[in-house]
Amino acid sequence: MQLKDGWLVGVKQVPSPHFDCRPEDETPSLLVVHNISLPPGEFGGPWIDALFSGTLDATAHPYFAGIAHLRVSAHCLIRRDGKIVQYVPFDKRAWHAGISLYQGRERCNDFSIGIELEGTDTLPYTDAQYQQLTAITETLIQAYPSIADNMTGHCDIAPDRKTDPGPAFDWSRFRQAVEVTSNKENK
Ligand SMILES: [Zn+2]
Repeated sequence: MQLKDGWLVGVKQVPSPHFDCRPEDETPSLLVVHNISLPPGEFGGPWIDALFSGTLDATAHPYFAGIAHLRVSAHCLIRRDGKIVQYVPFDKRAWHAGISLYQGRERCNDFSIGIELEGTDTLPYTDAQYQQLTAITETLIQAYPSIADNMTGHCDIAPDRKTDPGPAFDWSRFRQAVEVTSNKENK
């Protein structure tokens, strides 16, 4: 995978209006893993793109009435089949973390990259999702090396409010996959 101007090359782009500049154009140094499914527990619909684009129809499903007004985004989504959508270039600030704290520092959006896995806290993520998340993370580490040592879940930076990516996310599998790939590339 390659980056060009903060975008993954060859990936579906759905540019979101929900972003702004990082304060002082800070270089991202943290990866935050999330999950999302709309409606909750259902996969494959057009609703996540719509939410992050600010075009979600509040009447299309009862659940949407409570979220359609939110101005939120993430940098990327990885769907169940491994397809990637990018909404915000990585050098810009996406609005995914909310009130949050990582290693004593607040406002994680300022310095993080947010990646959503289409899923729920309890249903195992797919092999394709692990593969693509690993590939994206590798690419990000090349551009922003400190991410290698700073990867976390939304539930860890906003523990009172958030539970994603949940117990279904296998951190050791993910970290090991990233490590194996990095070692290969360094040899
Ligand atoms: Zn989240």
